Amino acid sequence: MSIQSDLISLKEKLPQGVTLVAVSKTKSVEEIMQAYNTGHRIFGENKIQEMVSKWEAMPKDIAWHMIGHVQRNKVKYMAEFVSLIHAVDSLKLLKEINKQAKKHERIISCLLQIKIAEEDSKFGMAAADAISLLESEAIASLENVRIVGLMGMATFTDDTDQLNKEFARLKALYDQLEKSYDFTFLSMGMSGDYEIALKHGSTMIRVGSAIFGERNYD
Ligand SMILES: *Cc1c(COP(=O)(O)O)cnc(C)c1O
Repeated sequence: MSIQSDLISLKEKLPQGVTLVAVSKTKSVEEIMQAYNTGHRIFGENKIQEMVSKWEAMPKDIAWHMIGHVQRNKVKYMAEFVSLIHAVDSLKLLKEINKQAKKHERIISCLLQIKIAEEDSKFGMAAADAISLLESEAIASLENVRIVGLMGMATFTDDTDQLNKEFARLKALYDQLEKSYDFTFLSMGMSGDYEIALKHGSTMIRVGSAIFGERNYD
């Protein structure tokens, strides 16, 4: 199968209103252009430097999503163009994104990353911390960022019960917060688990290897 046919058949399967982020990390500009040439415009990267070089080299109508952990000192490199930052996990990071967005007179959309995996993952906020962050006065003063939803990564497992439990938990939090905040995106689901994530109401899936094939390194 080719990148193009895998991408097209995946998109045909998706329910209406679900956004596909084609995760192109480690893939070459040539490979990404194959996907681009099917009309796809949303790509996800997990390293800021790599995303910046691809942004420089590629057509400017691509929406670049930062899906990986973000170091505060690197926000400045992507502030000019990044379309959505998926893994915001602290007020400190949000303040830096706000500061850099302001320099470019932009409002940068962000998702809060929630820790849903039972495995001991390093990143993501506890639900209670996300709620206090959203309710904090500090956040209200950040005029150049907009929190448009939540993101989560499930445990890397074949255990369907486990995945169901983790996605259901994130969806419940999303539903609770959606009533008070202007949320549009629930980013959950990757190559191995997006079908389960969709059953739980994901509105944005991040799929890499099912489109581009296995990665040689991560
Ligand atoms: C790499 C990555 C993905 C895509 O993973 P695949 O299993 O290749 O689909 C999704 N989300 C994040 C945060 C990633 O780092």
